[in-house]
Amino acid sequence: MLFNELGLSAELLRAVHEEGYETATPVQAQAIPEILRGRDILAGAQTGTGKTAAFTLPLLQHLQSGKTPSRKVRALVLTPTRELAAQVSESVRTYGRYLPTRVLQIFGGVSIRPQISKLREGVDVVVATPGRLLDHINQGTIDVSKVEVLVLDEADRMLDMGFIRDIRKILAVLPEGRQNLLFSATFSDEIRRLSRDFLNSPAEIQVTPRNTTVERITQVIHPVDKRRKRELLSHRIGSGNWKQVLVFTRTKHGANRLTGQLNTDGINAAAIHGNKSQGARTKALSEFKSGKIRVLVATDIAARGLDIDKLPYVVNYELPHVPEDYVHRIGRTARAGQDGHAVSLVCVDEHRLLKDIEKLLGTRLEQEIVPGYEPDPSIRAEPIQNGGGSAKRGGGRGAGKGARHNNGGGKKPAGRSGARKRPPNRNRRTG
Ligand code: AMP
Repeated sequence: MLFNELGLSAELLRAVHEEGYETATPVQAQAIPEILRGRDILAGAQTGTGKTAAFTLPLLQHLQSGKTPSRKVRALVLTPTRELAAQVSESVRTYGRYLPTRVLQIFGGVSIRPQISKLREGVDVVVATPGRLLDHINQGTIDVSKVEVLVLDEADRMLDMGFIRDIRKILAVLPEGRQNLLFSATFSDEIRRLSRDFLNSPAEIQVTPRNTTVERITQVIHPVDKRRKRELLSHRIGSGNWKQVLVFTRTKHGANRLTGQLNTDGINAAAIHGNKSQGARTKALSEFKSGKIRVLVATDIAARGLDIDKLPYVVNYELPHVPEDYVHRIGRTARAGQDGHAVSLVCVDEHRLLKDIEKLLGTRLEQEIVPGYEPDPSIRAEPIQNGGGSAKRGGGRGAGKGARHNNGGGKKPAGRSGARKRPPNRNRRTG
């Protein structure tokens, strides 16, 4: 469907046109008309489907009509991570460039004062992570009493990160009668419960990702001993002349260590994870995008929602504990119709994780031993150490998304309620 058939205003169409978009993606074609009609939305859409524009465009159009009460926030977008908050507010600025809309991103890890003064000047759209937004609500530095549209972006990830209580507290102080839009990649019982509680007869939209794993991504497994992974990675990057590589590790510590080793090998690398300051993360991302940094080493939570165009290589330095994270990880490649390569370095300890991933994908992945890196058959599998990184999210194996996947909508696995009850903590929020 063409954008000019969706009922969007001239100012928005102009901005969309300048972005080079001609046709709306499926989630945009389905969601935009419903949102413009004022309906609540429950949308199943992952990053890469064009979901951000699907809610941002009609939201801006809504704000275009009607009067702006001074200094009162009219639209609120909640996101799980700072990076996503920054990206969504950037999209609001991009699509709203011919409108007077004022947007502010609000997240932790940076000083609260500039946020307070911006809020005092008056803001129409706030894009926020739940923790810092609650700080503002509790301090009375934000007035959310006139919010007309609420968006929960990547709701499943927000719940995984322990934000449910914060979200419910925020919902409790928002005015009645607003429009609610919920976007989530997956639908657990918990998401369904949340949506039942606050959505009013929503239009349900479900789209498949633009890049399905089977179509445009070549996936290969290199069996290798754990202690030789770093060497093999440097070898593959060097011999293949890979220019822009996103590498996933399971832990923050692992990300730091690998980054140091790659730099020692003469390969420019930077790490991105929750213990890095906002400034360091933004710098790493922009240097990676510009080509100054060749390898970005990331944990799952930090990488979620990153929009890096035409990323050619994704490497699983370690397989994720949660099989669905494999799909999210490799979804960073082959964007915008390009081919992509997903390479996984798998040691004997990870065979079980690989089996779980293959079960989820419903296919066996091709294995290719790199000459000179043959695994030593005498090495026995050992339990994987988590070491305080993102793998802990949701209580680890048996308590996270994998458990949800395996159990479908049926009985709850024993570990889950325990994981849910655990109070949110800073590390898990920012992974
Ligand atoms: P998202 O799913 O919102 O993270 O968007 C993924 C990417 O698709 C972003 O780089 C957008 O700029 C791009 N995009 C969004 N809508 C369209 C469209 N209709 N045509 C082409 N690219 C789009």
